Amino acid sequence: MTDIPTDPYADIRDAVRDLCARFPDEYHRRIDAQRGYPEAFVEALTQAGWMATLIPEEYGGAGLGLCEASVVMEEINRSGGNSGACHGQMYNMNTLLRHGSEQQKQFYLPKIASGEWRLQAMGVTEPSTGTDTTKIKTTAVKKGDRYVVNGQKVWISRVQHSDWMILLARTTPLAEVQKKSEGMSIFLVDLRQAEKSGMTVRPIANMVNHETNELFFENLEIPAENLIGQEGMGFRYILDGLNAERALIAAECIGDGYWFIDRVSRYVRERVVFGRPIGQNQGVQFPIAEAHIEVEAANLMRWDACRRFDARQPCGAQANMAKYLAAKASWEAANACIQFHGGFGFANEYDVERKFRETRLYQVAPISTNMILSYVAEHVLGLPRSY
Ligand SMILES: Cc1cc2nc3c(=O)[nH]c(=O)nc-3n(C[C@H](O)[C@H](O)[C@H](O)COP(=O)(O)OP(=O)(O)OC[C@H]3O[C@@H](n4cnc5c(N)ncnc54)[C@H](O)[C@@H]3O)c2cc1C
Repeated sequence: MTDIPTDPYADIRDAVRDLCARFPDEYHRRIDAQRGYPEAFVEALTQAGWMATLIPEEYGGAGLGLCEASVVMEEINRSGGNSGACHGQMYNMNTLLRHGSEQQKQFYLPKIASGEWRLQAMGVTEPSTGTDTTKIKTTAVKKGDRYVVNGQKVWISRVQHSDWMILLARTTPLAEVQKKSEGMSIFLVDLRQAEKSGMTVRPIANMVNHETNELFFENLEIPAENLIGQEGMGFRYILDGLNAERALIAAECIGDGYWFIDRVSRYVRERVVFGRPIGQNQGVQFPIAEAHIEVEAANLMRWDACRRFDARQPCGAQANMAKYLAAKASWEAANACIQFHGGFGFANEYDVERKFRETRLYQVAPISTNMILSYVAEHVLGLPRSY
């Protein structure tokens, strides 16, 4: 009989868990009620080096891969926190690492690794084009040693708590490119500078305590050296980063899923109604058991996606499927958790309603479930393109 391998990431898991234990439920609950930003928590993660997990050692980071980064995200959500406050740096990092120039890496990475700068924001979505990204209307026109940006973005997260943003804009009009995915470019935008010179930020109040914004660009000038990679190739670079994002979000959902299952299992063992623990009823046990099975299954796909990404193998299918399975599993776990807490599930002090709201987001963003199904139908099964 072969040995079942032990968790190769146990050390990382334990260390992140210890750090998260310093920020208990009350902390996250208070920040949520205040619609605040968990600054002390993100700072502690940064100081402990976890926000630099993916940065190579020569630039001051830990030099680890997406597998390890995903464990950090999973443990934050599993502890009762919400990685949404800080996951941007993890998935933006791969875009810079894989497509940035050596000069850019030397300029940005040491300061990000030390915590002096945060690279937490990515501006892709636009109000009038939504998921149809190749139709974006924000333009960046080269004028001498600058690009001049005009347009609008929506739902751009962590802008107020980041120093830099990766921005996707059209550099060649759609009518002039052969393939619609061509002619878009990505730039590093200095956010504090941009706010003084052509970028307006309008926060969006939303269901989750997620700092997200509308952005308006009016002749914002970006130095040409802030272009990442080749002009016109930005969409391809963004897609690379999105695979990392999907695998990381899957890990967060898995963390949420385990949190819901732990909480509800504990509650139904203790809550006595009709003279016995409610967890003795099969009608209560089965949805919890089902959610647990689905979280475990989603976890297998998450590892497949992360390992392929780290090995630089194609991983679009696995990253999308992992995100789909994990978001669905965490949502089912959330439903079972709130249902079997009865009325108490709705009380803020149990944290279930907060986590319920937080995990619901992942059916829609960063990619909606329908778009994943379309991807699998078209790119995995070879069915005709539907849009
Ligand atoms: C809290 C939050 C934070 C976010 N953070 C960021 C961020 O930091 N950066 C960023 O760039 N974006 C961000 N987003 C945007 C997010 O990625 C988009 O909201 C998401 O991709 C869906 O786009 P949309 O809202 O325009 O929906 P739409 O594209 O209008 O779609 C609406 C619905 O219709 C469905 N639909 C659309 N077309 C089809 C089709 N062809 N077939 C089947 N169904 C279809 C979709 O599945 C979706 O459910 C964030 C969103 C939220 C809510």
